[in-house]
Amino acid sequence: MAEEQYQEIGITDLAHKTLLQSDALYQYILETSVFPREHECLKELRQITEKHPLSLIATPPDEGQLINMLVKLINAKNTMEIGVYTGYSLLSTALALPHDGKILAMDVNWEYYELGLPIIEKAGVAHKIDFREGPALPLLDQLLIDENNKGAFDFVFVDADKNNYLNYHKRVIELVKVGGLIGYDNTLWSGSVASPPDAPMMDYVKEFRSYLVELNKYLAHDSRIEICQLPVGDGITLCRRIM
Ligand code: SAM
Ligand code: CA
Repeated sequence: MAEEQYQEIGITDLAHKTLLQSDALYQYILETSVFPREHECLKELRQITEKHPLSLIATPPDEGQLINMLVKLINAKNTMEIGVYTGYSLLSTALALPHDGKILAMDVNWEYYELGLPIIEKAGVAHKIDFREGPALPLLDQLLIDENNKGAFDFVFVDADKNNYLNYHKRVIELVKVGGLIGYDNTLWSGSVASPPDAPMMDYVKEFRSYLVELNKYLAHDSRIEICQLPVGDGITLCRRIM
């Protein structure tokens, strides 16, 4: 369509290019495509998590569905998750893995994980999970000491402290195999990455915005990966290691 035709029908800004135009549309996606197919244990975990005071940080169910699909598409077997909380993305991954699949899961807080653990056990996938309590950076450095861990992971989901994402990338890129996938979560950071730094925003958004802006720039120029920025959830950037 020519520029003038867009103007004739009133499409003069970028609004027509964004998919989600309303909360009603998001609700439609959840009710039509996500909830009817959500595993009963994921549903239970989501509902328990909703009662937790920090529930806003949980992975939303449509994103869990995406992760589950990605893990299956790439036939992932050996995976890692940095930032578990109560385990929604962890369980979405675990359910997608084959019976002998593995997830090395890291979080500084065991108590959050403990909330979801009985449901993960009920789902019959707890044997796939090796949970390590503690800050992820030293754990990653420890993994890198053993050459056998380099290029050993098919899929890594990063969803922990945003100020360390670049530090995670510098390590995870060596741990994921060539052809493997890394997902960085919250890369649109409530949309704030596109706002001027002095625009009014919530304190926590303001505090970490610059780290996401910096990460997005870095990933866009990193020749070791191909990337795809998806506006699912709070934005997830998929990185496929190519060298
Ligand atoms: N992926 C989770 C889900 O599906 O609900 C959400 C993770 S939540 C956004 C971030 C998690 O990162 C929190 O559980 C927090 O305890 C953890 N975290 C924060 N700093 C961390 C660090 N330095 N190392 C490991 N985990 C960390
Ligand atoms: Ca997240």
